[in-house]
Amino acid sequence: MTTTIKLPEGECLVMRDGKVEPATQPIIGFVEGDGIGPDITKVCLGVWDAAVRSVYGDKRRVAWCELFMGEKAASLFGGNPFPDETLAAIRKLKVAIKGPLGTPVGTGIRSLNVALRQKLDLYACIRPVRYYQGVPSPMKQPEKLDIVIFRENTEDVYAGIEYASGTPENRRLADFLRQEMQASFFEDAGLGIKPISPFASKRLVRKAIRYALEHGRKSVTLVHKGNIMKFTEGAFRTWGYEVARDEFAQETITEEQVNKECGGQPPAGKVVINDRIADIMFQLLLLRPEEFDVLATPNLNGDYLSDATAAQVGGVGIAPGANVGDEAAVFEATHGTAPKYAGQDKVNPGSLLLSGADMFEFIGWHPVSAVLRAAYEKTVRDGIVTYDFARQMTGATEVATSAFGQAVIERLSAVAQS
Ligand code: NAP
Repeated sequence: MTTTIKLPEGECLVMRDGKVEPATQPIIGFVEGDGIGPDITKVCLGVWDAAVRSVYGDKRRVAWCELFMGEKAASLFGGNPFPDETLAAIRKLKVAIKGPLGTPVGTGIRSLNVALRQKLDLYACIRPVRYYQGVPSPMKQPEKLDIVIFRENTEDVYAGIEYASGTPENRRLADFLRQEMQASFFEDAGLGIKPISPFASKRLVRKAIRYALEHGRKSVTLVHKGNIMKFTEGAFRTWGYEVARDEFAQETITEEQVNKECGGQPPAGKVVINDRIADIMFQLLLLRPEEFDVLATPNLNGDYLSDATAAQVGGVGIAPGANVGDEAAVFEATHGTAPKYAGQDKVNPGSLLLSGADMFEFIGWHPVSAVLRAAYEKTVRDGIVTYDFARQMTGATEVATSAFGQAVIERLSAVAQS
C-alpha cells in the first residue's frame, strides 16, 4: 500500500464465509464519492461516531480510513478513478462504505460501481426496504412494506455481453445463431447474452435464506420471469428451490408443501420458500406488501424492484444498500451524485446514513443500528427534514444536510435511553 491510503490504528476485520468476527476498534474504509458525496459523507461520519459513543461510550470506536474512487481518486492517482490501492485496501479491511460515484454516459469506463462489484465478487446486492414514520410516501399504508431484496450482482444483464448492431462481432454471432441454432430475429438486431448459472444463482439464494433464518424472517420469494425465459430465469427458480431442499431441509418448507400438508399454515420456525413471476410481483408489492419478506432475484428484476419499492417508502434518497460477497462488503448510498446540488449542504443524507445502520448491524453492533434508525425516524417525525421531503410535507422545517445530521445527533441519547 502506498502512502496515499493511510491505515489508522485499529483492527482489520476478519471475514469468514460472508460474516465478520467481533471487533471493538474496527478499521472501516470510506469513499466520499463524487458530486453530493462529500456533503453527505462528512455529515454521516459525525452521526455514526456519535451513535457509537451513545451506545458504547469510549469502549468501542470505528477507526475510519479514507479510500479513493471517482474524481478524488483521479486527482490523486494520475487520472485513475479506481486505483489498485483502493481495491487492495477494501480486500484487507473487508468492510467499507461509499458515497455515489459519477458514471460518464456513452464513453469511458462502464461504471465504477459495477467494476467494484465485479473485482471484489460482491455478488449480492442487498436492499432493505422499510418505512420510517413521518417520511412522505405515495402509499396509504407504507408501513406494510418491510422487505429485503437480494439481487444477483454478477450475471444476467450485468455480465455486459452485448454486440452492437452493424459490427462484425454482431454479424458473426447472428450468423451462428441463425445457421447453427435455427434462431430467428430481425436483421441488424443488437444482440445481448443473458448468462444465469447454477453457481451464481445458488450462492445468492443461499445468502438470502441464511439472512431470513438469522433475522427471523418468514419467507424467501424467488422472483423470476421463468414463464418466458425458461433456461435462465426459470432455471434460477429451479436452482433456488434446490438450494433450499438440499442445504436447508430442516429449516425451510415450500409454499406448495404448506398448502398441501399443513393446511396453509407454515410450521413455526420454518422459512417458507415460494416464487412469483416478476411482473405480478410489482402489483403484489403494491397491493399486498405484507405477504413478502425476503426476495431473491436475478439482476434485472432486482434492479427494477429495488427502486420501485424504495419509491413506496420515500424514494432512493433514503434507501440504503450494500454489495456483499464472501470476502468483503461495501455499503453505499443508492442514489447518484446529483451534481447540481454538489457542495451546497442541501441534500438528504438518509440513504448513506441508513446504509451505515445496516453496516453496524453487519459488524454485529446491533444497538448502534437501532439507535441510528430510531433517531433518524424521530428527527423526521419531528418535522426536521431536507428540501426533498420538505416540499412534500406541510408544516415541516427545511434544514441543510449538516443541520439534519445535528438534529439526529441531538436525538441519539433520548432514543438510546428509551
Ligand atoms: P441522481 O444523482 O440520483 O439524481 C437524480 C435526482 O434525485 C436529483 O436531481 C434529486 O432530485 C434526487 N436526489 C438524488 N440524491 C438525493 C439526495 N441525497 N437527497 C435529495 N434528493 C436526491 O441520479 P442521476 O442524475 O440520474 O445520476 C447522476 C450521476 O450519478 C450519474 O453519473 C449516474 O451514473 C450516477 N449514479 C451513481 C450511483 C451510485 O454511485 N450508486 C447511483 C445512481 C446514479 P431533484 O432534482 O428532484 O431535487
